[in-house]
Amino acid sequence: MQTVECDAIVLASMDYGEADRIVTLFTREFGKIRGLARNGKKSVKRFGPAFELFARIRIRLVMKEGLCALSNTDIITVFPRIRADLAKIGYAGYACELVDRYSPEAQHNPRLFRLLFAYLEYLDAFPPRADDRRFFEVNLLNIVGYRLSLDRCGRCGESALPAGTDRGTTVKPVCGVCGRALLPVGTDTLTILKKAMETGRFGVLRFSPASLQEAGEILDAAIAEHVNRPLTSLQFLRDVLALH
Ligand SMILES: [Zn+2]
Repeated sequence: MQTVECDAIVLASMDYGEADRIVTLFTREFGKIRGLARNGKKSVKRFGPAFELFARIRIRLVMKEGLCALSNTDIITVFPRIRADLAKIGYAGYACELVDRYSPEAQHNPRLFRLLFAYLEYLDAFPPRADDRRFFEVNLLNIVGYRLSLDRCGRCGESALPAGTDRGTTVKPVCGVCGRALLPVGTDTLTILKKAMETGRFGVLRFSPASLQEAGEILDAAIAEHVNRPLTSLQFLRDVLALH
């Protein structure tokens, strides 16, 4: 058994039994790992708010098959300004669940760690915006190997997309090879999505309302095709955004 220290972001956390907690972490060093924090539920003194969703921590853990054993934890930040705003909580929780769903356990992916951390830092400092969520999604798909297909069918890669189709008047076309509905993409949307793949910095790109709508439909469809059950954080995000 090996004891290691790593940088981590909490992706999920749940009570286990009388006193323990099972925590899912995304670590810079080892990718996603799951661990057991003995007395993690009761010992506020020992762990504080370290295992709150999307907290950034430095943790020591004992690597094991299955669940790691979690011990000494230092909280780097709990992102307090995210926690003070429901829409920000919605976006941050959604980002963590996406990373969780797209990450197999123990697969080192420092780029994905940097992307998630950059998004949380940005959310903490600036007002919540739908653009930034879409920017996060584009980059996440890119990093995990599902680069958004902007000119071909996103499922089979065979049929070309009908670029620039007038959305108001056209019946949605279908891929002639695999049957997937092809979402028409306007030129402006194509341009901004391509730019989003080329920069890793939040806050640089702003979508027009029309492009945001189109990009959102494309990304929602792509993600729905990959995840095998609905994302639980998505409904919460929709609910809190509806309040705004
Ligand atoms: Zn197809």
